[in-house]
Amino acid sequence: MEITDVRVERIEVPLERPLGVSRGRSMSARGAAFVVVETDAGITGIGEGVGPESYIVERIVEEKYAPRLIGEDPLDIQRLWESMVTDTVYKDLKGQGLSAASGVDIALWDIAGKHHGVPVYRLLGGPVGGDLKPYASDLFWQDPETMAERAGSYVDRGFAGVKTHLGRGIDADEERVAAMRDAIGDAELMVDMNCGYDRPDARRVGRMLEDYDVYWYEEPLSPYDVDGLAALQEELAVPLAAGENEYTKWGFRDLFEADAVDYAMPDVMRCGGITEATKVCALAEAHGTVVSPHCFTTGVGLAATMHVVAASPACEWLEFDPTDFPVYEALFETPPELEDGRIALPEEPGLGVSLDEDVIGEFRVD
Ligand SMILES: [Mg+2]
Repeated sequence: MEITDVRVERIEVPLERPLGVSRGRSMSARGAAFVVVETDAGITGIGEGVGPESYIVERIVEEKYAPRLIGEDPLDIQRLWESMVTDTVYKDLKGQGLSAASGVDIALWDIAGKHHGVPVYRLLGGPVGGDLKPYASDLFWQDPETMAERAGSYVDRGFAGVKTHLGRGIDADEERVAAMRDAIGDAELMVDMNCGYDRPDARRVGRMLEDYDVYWYEEPLSPYDVDGLAALQEELAVPLAAGENEYTKWGFRDLFEADAVDYAMPDVMRCGGITEATKVCALAEAHGTVVSPHCFTTGVGLAATMHVVAASPACEWLEFDPTDFPVYEALFETPPELEDGRIALPEEPGLGVSLDEDVIGEFRVD
């Protein structure tokens, strides 16, 4: 089998409800770069690279990687990964070169699964457990009552945990944590600061979160401050989570060696694809660190993440976007559904997703 074409399809989805995070920042649209790999066997693979800028992922995939991939055997996934990432004289250690390679890598795994007629997690040696346990990842910045009501609605739908995005000062944060804790009862509450604090404030806020039995305290600090994370980890009782801004097994090795996180959060669409995410999971396992991959993107990214989680004993919790994003469940051949707080694994060969023109067409950008 040979790769005959590699291209990127981009979409931009405007949001009715802007997603507010720390420091007054907010998202009013969400874009995506889908990588499509065609073969002479008639099998098409689909992946996604989260740059986050989709036009940069497109440029790197189509101009830098495609010429190296066309004519190659798509089943040579590891060798093609090296060809994109490590064989060059000047390396992209972190950043969008890795995001672009992640999208290609995911598409190659999709091809491999379709070629062998099995779901990707089977090729990775999974599944290691049964159904996946999702948490509802939403609860962006709004007034406390609205956030509490929304948090409660997710628990009513059957989610065993909910995640919120705070980081606008200890008093405003505490009002919202208290309201949400009250609304969700015994369900787990994860708190994400999206790198919103400096060291002293991160310490003060972390102590406040301990009073509300918060499950994890995510990205309190800049990802550049690994020593700061490690110090917080020593000082606080609330478990720390980070990793969505980290890349490759080498980046995660540094986080693990510094003992900077309890929960590692590689993003399959950024850290180096399925190939690299499974290695990060193995490294985490060796360090006694739990993995809950970061995943806040389209259905293609969700599927890739589900296959990684299904195949690693280090993984716990699936980040699930319950915001009715139009390019999410709709891209699955069998849309994931929450039943008794769990989501069943896909059973189709490959990733189990497709780029339905009826779904992505209206959001397409050139
Ligand atoms: Mg996060």
